Amino acid sequence: MPQSPDTTAITAGRDQSSALSPTLWPNTVWESSGLHEARQRATGFRADSFYARFGNPTVTQFEHAVAELEGAESALAFGSGMGAISTVVLALCSSGSHIVAQNNVYGATLAFLQGPCQRLGIDVTLVDPSVPGAFASAVIPGRTMLVIAETPSNPRLGITSLAEIGAIKGPFTLVDSTLATPLGQNPLAHGVDIVLHSATKGIGGHNDALLGVIAGEKELIDSIWSYSVLHGAAASPHDALNALRGIRTLSVRLERQTTSALEIARALESHPKVASVSYPFLESHPQYALAHEQMRHGGTIVAVELKGDFDTCNTFVSHLSLAHTATSFGGPETLVCHPATSTQAGFSEEVLVSTGVTQGLLRFSIGLEATSDLLADITNALALI
Ligand SMILES: *Cc1c(COP(=O)(O)O)cnc(C)c1O
Repeated sequence: MPQSPDTTAITAGRDQSSALSPTLWPNTVWESSGLHEARQRATGFRADSFYARFGNPTVTQFEHAVAELEGAESALAFGSGMGAISTVVLALCSSGSHIVAQNNVYGATLAFLQGPCQRLGIDVTLVDPSVPGAFASAVIPGRTMLVIAETPSNPRLGITSLAEIGAIKGPFTLVDSTLATPLGQNPLAHGVDIVLHSATKGIGGHNDALLGVIAGEKELIDSIWSYSVLHGAAASPHDALNALRGIRTLSVRLERQTTSALEIARALESHPKVASVSYPFLESHPQYALAHEQMRHGGTIVAVELKGDFDTCNTFVSHLSLAHTATSFGGPETLVCHPATSTQAGFSEEVLVSTGVTQGLLRFSIGLEATSDLLADITNALALI
């Protein structure tokens, strides 16, 4: 019988024990029964009872849960989302390789593509994801190893067509699906090769786990694992445990957070002190139809552009009492940040303008508080600017 992903979030990633909550294996090393078994573990793929950089049973449970939710053969966890991104790039690309990436990827991803990649002789072409066919036409046959998309994008919530990325043949395709979570969309079902999440965000969901994860076909994930063991951005079992617990409650958290996000986005859109609101499930979003086609919900982030500048935003946040000024997202508390001076700080004015990150832009991560209390907090602060 076909099962709802909401149910899979409860059933997936269980080991053989009778314990209902995941078991924490904090150890880094396991004993082998003899030299034959030790050789087997040292030379095979993904031993999870050998040495923890190769694998750890608690981390494996988390990986199984993500693989099942993404409809993947295999998943691999990392110490952070950036650990996942940098490992995948360095596992698949060499000096002389070429990468196509959308121009509005996560700030640290862009910094990695423009800094270390350039230094290592990996060329990167940035494309505007809202231009149909932009990714495919930037691919250089024989040289392009990787195509990187992120949807929804952070912080402006642009939507990239998963079908368009999945249709690209030749290079490996990767979609950073962090903002959607595995319950919001499944890129692999559209033909994409690798789905990636910063599990630090919605999957973990409680601001107490720093973790990244990728999922895809076993052969590809195994080959990335072979490099990953040398790269060393291994996931902590403590964080994997917290994130697996996060998966159990992801569905109900998303239900509250996405309902609040849409209601707040609607209310702010017509507010006289607000210049514009971006939210994928808002009818005014330029890719509203595409968002509905490929996403089950609009996500937990709302981008709000105030009529004003940095000082206006600063005054506004000083009058908020529920929403905390902090980066990150997906946790229980509502957070607000000023992307131009935090997550996107250090980028040229030109990049900021081309990706819609203005001085009046604020990014809200909608938490689990009652919607009415959040709206009251935000409208009260707006009245005071
Ligand atoms: C946070 C984030 C990352 C990086 O993840 P870390 O866990 O902070 O390393 C990558 N992509 C997106 C979209 C993110 O939001």
